[in-house]
Parts: sequence; structure tokens; C-alpha cells
Amino acid sequence: MIEVQHLSKVFADGTKALDDVSLSIPDGQFVCVIGLSGAGKSTFMRCLNRLNDPTAGKILIEGQDIAFAQGRNLRKLRRRIGFVFQSFNLVERLSALENVLSGRLGYYGRLQGVLGLYSAADKQLALDALKRVGLEEKTNTTASNLSGGQKQRVAIARALVQEPKLMLADEPTASIDPKLSGVIMDLLKSFTNDGITVIVNIHVLELAREYAERILGFNKGKLIFDGTPSQLTDAEVERIYAGSVADL
Ligand code: ADP
Repeated sequence: MIEVQHLSKVFADGTKALDDVSLSIPDGQFVCVIGLSGAGKSTFMRCLNRLNDPTAGKILIEGQDIAFAQGRNLRKLRRRIGFVFQSFNLVERLSALENVLSGRLGYYGRLQGVLGLYSAADKQLALDALKRVGLEEKTNTTASNLSGGQKQRVAIARALVQEPKLMLADEPTASIDPKLSGVIMDLLKSFTNDGITVIVNIHVLELAREYAERILGFNKGKLIFDGTPSQLTDAEVERIYAGSVADL
């Protein structure tokens, strides 16, 4: 269970990106986040794993507040949160397997990590993850030689070997062939069967409608819609996407 209480984020230049956001998400739910560009979707996701530091509020993950955790405590909380980026964030010169293994780094000491001294158990975990995303034949392929869709699947496998409680995906289909969006969404959704909570920031409304169990709609930093796809009427869509076209 994730509980967000009165979460706010004001950037140094005064931009209020999140404004008093509160909600709770049970384990294993598949949540899609929608809203205009600039509505605060990425900031919400980035606060959840502390790529952004919140200004105020609480983020309770299994009862522990990560909103202001620091140092070792933060690293420990973070290793159970997978993050999938729009731009994959792979190390291009490393193989698919090595990229996936780096998802285990949070469980190693610094030196072990630098030297790449991964255990046999972790190598097996990484191979299993590559298999799960359908890339067992690309294990030793250098990331730079993979297609966009394959890169994103490697990135998902990397998040998976973290053995996450929570998986966050920020526009995971935006940089790949639209025909492959469904493959990525299906994969992400399959993790909810293992009790992993998955939150996807998605700019394609149809994908949110098709896949989400629950949709969160942001507008100007406020959470203004929280419901099921069937509750997302045209009027609600208009309310969520209300704002200047210049914001797009
Ligand atoms: P979305 O993901 O919905 O497009 P963001 O969360 O990226 O929206 O941005 C929300 C608001 O915060 C926007 O007005 C954006 O310009 C602003 N913002 C995002 N990152 C920063 C930053 N590092 N510094 C200042 N403003 C930022």
C-alpha cells in the first residue's frame, strides 16, 4: 500500500508543480496518470522515488515515509522502487544482461558494484527477467544494437530485478514504435499479478482507457480525477485537459 498525503512540490523558480495531492494505492494496482503537458505528472512520479525532492507532505510506502528520507535509508527504500524512463537510460556500450544486472546494484556495496561482481543467483535473476520480457536471445547483445522496443524491454527487466514493490514508468511508450505500445503495456500490467503496484504516466488517452484499473488526472499540479476508466466520461476528459493550448 502506498499512501500519499498532502504532497506538494514547488521548484526553485516558484513553479508549483504539485499542489496538495493525497491518495492511497493498494498493492498490485495498475494505475495510469494522465493530463496536459506541464500538469505535474512527471513530478508526481519523480517524487515517488525521490528523483525530485518534495516540498511538503508524506509518501508512505509500506508505512515508511520516503518523502524526506536521506542517505542509507533512502537508498534502501529506493531499491524496491523500479523506474522505467521514456528514453530507456541504458548504458549503450554494455550488453542487455549487464544492463539488467545493474538493477541489482542497490543490493551491493560500492566496490562490488564498480567491479561488477554479481552473484550467480543475481545472474540467474537477470536471465529470468530477460526471458520474461522475451529477450533471452539478446542476452549478450550490446544495448546500442537493440531497437527502441527492445531497449525498453531491457529497461523493464532491469527494473524487475530490483524485486520492486512499486514500478513507475514515465511515458514508457513515447520513444518507441506505436505498434509496440501494447507489448510494453501488457508487460507492465503483468507485474501486478506478482503484487507489484505499477504506475504509468501515459500521454495516449486510449492506452490509459484500455489498460488502467484506475486513472489519475492531473491539472495544474492538482489531482482532479481519480477513478476507473468507465468513470472517465467525456466531460471529465475535458476537465482534465482544460487549459491553454500553449501549455501543450
Ligand atoms: P508533466 O509531466 O505533466 O508534463 P511536469 O511534472 O514535467 O509535467 O512539470 C510540471 C510543472 O513543473 C511544469 O510547469 C514544468 O515546467 C515545471 N517543472 C518541471 N521540472 C522543473 C524544474 N526542474 N524546474 C522548474 N520547473 C520545473
